[in-house]
Amino acid sequence: MAGAWRRCDSRIGYPFSVQRILNFIDGAFVPPVGGACLDNFEPATGAVYSHLPDGDARDVDAAVAAAERAFTGWSATPAHERSRMLLRIADLIEANLERFAKAESIDSGKPISLARGLDIPRAASNFRFFATAILHTRDEAHITDQRAINYTLRQPRGVAGLISPWNLPLYLFTWKVAPAIATGNTAVAKPSEVTPMTAFLLGELCNEAGLPRGVLNIVHGLGPKVGAAIVAHPRISTISFTGGTATGKTIAAAAGPMFKKLSLELGGKNPTIIFADADMSQAIPGAVRAAFSNQGQICLCGSRILVERSALDRFVNEFVKRTKHLKQGDPLEDATEQGAVTSKPHFDKVTSYIEIAKREGGKVLCGGSPPASLPKRCRDGWFIEPTVITGLDANCRTNQEEIFGPVVTILPFDSEAAGIAMANSTPYGLAASIWTSNLDRAHRVAAQVQSGVIWINCWLLRDLRTPFGGMKQSGVGREGGDEALRFFTEPKNICIATT
Ligand code: NAD
Repeated sequence: MAGAWRRCDSRIGYPFSVQRILNFIDGAFVPPVGGACLDNFEPATGAVYSHLPDGDARDVDAAVAAAERAFTGWSATPAHERSRMLLRIADLIEANLERFAKAESIDSGKPISLARGLDIPRAASNFRFFATAILHTRDEAHITDQRAINYTLRQPRGVAGLISPWNLPLYLFTWKVAPAIATGNTAVAKPSEVTPMTAFLLGELCNEAGLPRGVLNIVHGLGPKVGAAIVAHPRISTISFTGGTATGKTIAAAAGPMFKKLSLELGGKNPTIIFADADMSQAIPGAVRAAFSNQGQICLCGSRILVERSALDRFVNEFVKRTKHLKQGDPLEDATEQGAVTSKPHFDKVTSYIEIAKREGGKVLCGGSPPASLPKRCRDGWFIEPTVITGLDANCRTNQEEIFGPVVTILPFDSEAAGIAMANSTPYGLAASIWTSNLDRAHRVAAQVQSGVIWINCWLLRDLRTPFGGMKQSGVGREGGDEALRFFTEPKNICIATT
């Protein structure tokens, strides 16, 4: 809806005081210049529960102006003071854990247990990690024989443009905001229009923490309007984007001729590779978790499960049994393991892929439809049963294109080489997990699988110091640890003659 703001009655105890989301510019909450708003839906009910700004380039201009004004002071603020500020934000997120977890669950449809156990704690960790990382950097120096000393300054680049997706809303938003501002940049950030609530609430915490106004500015709205205006803005020189591969292509095409520094974290079609010698008591629950966490809407989810043929029957039986036991229901119930998918267009996309899989000859072993019983509140929500499909060729659309929902395929392979070839057979290269008790094989396969992130006998075990990102069409560049500190700074070499 693009119209005037309208009041929205709260039907359940929403953990925030307004259902009207505002932009956060120069430390103040402001409506969009154009005055229009968009509906914000609760995926569990399919109903509109709040509104967000339908921002445009004018809001981005105001945010950039505020960020530029703040840059002089913030970039000159000593690292320990910037660090203290970010630590305060981390503390405040933790103090507001329950409120934020509930907001995230309502806004995205994810189980509250996941928001409470993963999303919100990780948002706090992102601030804490980069707050302390900037205190422990080393500067490079190179001695050139007896003739000169070179040293490298790493300076903040100015105003960073940060664009994030809907699947892990605050988690991924802060994964960009924290390193950008920790290193002395200021930021204009855009959360997904599908899940804007926790980014909005973060603005309140930034003010409470005393973050100088203008250091972080948050503009809400549609990708082709607000996102495109951020990418095209001549005074934003750094763009960090996480989202779909098609959007990444559009952004690269716009940013390339402007010579912007660009980090693209894109889609995936990740293999889970199960060798017959794997400890199945770990591998099977691990594969279920990798397949269906957050309804399969984590870029790192293992949606293609490749199983060595001699273990296939046992694996499939147990995998399907465990999948059927996943508890689907109201995301706000503590016991719920599977919530709703995040939007109606996404629901339509995922269900259309189940039909494509059937047309391609796939056999649906479980799921494939809306769940039979849901609480009354959730009857109009966007729920899809966790779905397991077999009998498909590795090259069909179902096995080549990103579905990004609770839908996985299981494919057999006959040799290590064939398993690796199948793992590498898509245009993507984000993540893979390998399950085997043979460590030689694990290292051999890990070296040959074309993915930026590989887990052996585990999944989603993250250490924030490690490089994170994808190969092939899964992205360009790396985030995390030193990679993020480098990305958000400009190295400048200074050579002093010593003779
Ligand atoms: P999306 O590409 O549709 O949107 C991502 C963000 O980009 C949103 O904020 C959106 O408003 C904005 N956007 C859309 N069009 C734009 C444009 N023309 N210019 C600038 N910004 C624009 O992605 P999504 O549907 O929100 O998220 C799902 C995708 O994100 C999946 O493909 C998933 O694999 C990927 N993802 C990748 C990672 C990773 O780390 N590689 C992590 C999470 C999600």
